[in-house]
Amino acid sequence: MALKGSCLCKTVQYEADALASPIGHCHCHTCRKASASAYTSTARVARSAFRIISGEGRLTAYESTPGKLRRPCSVCGTEVLAEWVDQPHVILRVATLDDNPGASPVVHIWTSHDAPWLIDIGDVPRLPEGVK
Ligand SMILES: [Zn+2]
Ligand SMILES: [Zn+2]
Repeated sequence: MALKGSCLCKTVQYEADALASPIGHCHCHTCRKASASAYTSTARVARSAFRIISGEGRLTAYESTPGKLRRPCSVCGTEVLAEWVDQPHVILRVATLDDNPGASPVVHIWTSHDAPWLIDIGDVPRLPEGVK
């Protein structure tokens, strides 16, 4: 059964058939700003397994890095996903899921960008940069 998710205001709603990667917490400075949080929990979902079921016209795009779009809801600001336009998957913001994906985070990435006040990230492995 597909996993359902949505933005804060529920304007944007989506379904994901399955996660295509483990969940990772991204600490990069652009995720930090985009989420207004110390890090963003992410997982890949194949484009063929991802469907916006309402509010697609309200999903906006911000090119935070050349070729990488962040896709927040234009009503409430929740970043639902990011995507490299040339890749066959989207990078889901896992915290927007309303259903439990049944998986737990396995890695922290881009910890070299950590906010200096961040101390409590537990014992999940940490990588100073990312994986592409
Ligand atoms: Zn919204
Ligand atoms: Zn990031």
